[in-house]
Amino acid sequence: MTAGQGDDGQLADAVAAAERWTAHNYHPLPVVVAEATGAWVTDVSGRRYLDCLAGYSALNFGHRHPALITAAQTQLDRLTLTSRAFLHDQFADFCRGLAELCGMELVVPMNTGAEAVETGIKVARKWGYQVKGVPEGQATIVVAENNFHGRTTTIVSFSTDKDARDDYGPYTPGFRIVRYGDLAALAEAIDDTTVAVLLEPIQGEAGVLVPPPGYLPGVRRLCDERNVLFLADEIQSGLGRTGATFALDHEAVRPDAYLLGKALGGGIVPVSAMVADRSVLGVLRPGEHGSTFGGNPLACAVGSAVVELLRSGEPQARARELGDHLHQRLQSLVGHGLVAVRGRGLWAGIDIDPGRMSGRRACELLAERGVLAKDTHGSTLRLAPPLVVEAAELDWAVDQLQAVLSHRA
Ligand SMILES: *Cc1c(COP(=O)(O)O)cnc(C)c1O
Repeated sequence: MTAGQGDDGQLADAVAAAERWTAHNYHPLPVVVAEATGAWVTDVSGRRYLDCLAGYSALNFGHRHPALITAAQTQLDRLTLTSRAFLHDQFADFCRGLAELCGMELVVPMNTGAEAVETGIKVARKWGYQVKGVPEGQATIVVAENNFHGRTTTIVSFSTDKDARDDYGPYTPGFRIVRYGDLAALAEAIDDTTVAVLLEPIQGEAGVLVPPPGYLPGVRRLCDERNVLFLADEIQSGLGRTGATFALDHEAVRPDAYLLGKALGGGIVPVSAMVADRSVLGVLRPGEHGSTFGGNPLACAVGSAVVELLRSGEPQARARELGDHLHQRLQSLVGHGLVAVRGRGLWAGIDIDPGRMSGRRACELLAERGVLAKDTHGSTLRLAPPLVVEAAELDWAVDQLQAVLSHRA
């Protein structure tokens, strides 16, 4: 799996070309991917890598899952776009399938995760004014520190990450930020103006932080007591990743709305949605919210195929079983270069001993060994391989991590 001299030159050229023509709002690892199948990608020089990032969980079902590709190709040959000015024959099936998967009544299809979050914010505010009776312009939404909900100006207004937020003001008002996992702080922040609590059931970008047991049921209870909507951002945690359809399922919590994205598009097209009951989404009337591409025929065809995969329960079961195996292996490295391991299902946040190397350096060394992973915040790495990965491949990836950790900085 070692790249030759010629390949390195080719790689350097490809990296330079990309840097020449794009704003530097990303700092990608020096890997130029050309093809992929399942859990494996191949770069322009023919080197193969196990994909342990899976497009931040947009690729939960692997690269080019046959059922999803078939759904997309079939739809490409029939109809790709109508706009919501007209109905199309893929729309109702997708919305019904997704609503049933969520155990909810209505769907608002959008494209990106940030748009699903924006939809949640808008609907919660409208619900607050029309149903709860909050005085006009006063609505507040409580969010958690170290959240990641997307990149729009409103969403970064309540980010606590300087890189994501600084110099993008003036910021959208109406948000209160509390410590994640702290029920007392949440109770304190809710008042008569509060329309929603918006949370990730597991904080992904923050480093796969799992809140203390009882926190999420506690959030549900508080929201019920204070007549506040619980908006669950399951864009990264949902759709199989944690070993259940939703991360909230592990604590038997039903939110007032699911915000979904990433894997909903099967790694093929951007598909997102807000899913909730009529008592919440019923506040939207024609013309009050929408998207040109939201719920388009291609998105619906792929989204329906994703729902179909999840209906079998098989991806969730794989994530659960392989996740147990992965976490067991990773735990054995704690004290041997790893400081801590967190997560659920096929999703792990691992803190490397910062004295050994940065997370970035670890990812570079892993890539040299054929494993793609992504660092976050200093010395934390995220592992989130596609749910189609095999146990032996996971073992091999952990072996590579072990070898990397034995390097000296
Ligand atoms: C990725 C992500 C988003 C934003 O999704 P985009 O499709 O990038 O807009 C929102 N919330 C969470 C939890 C995410 O992981």
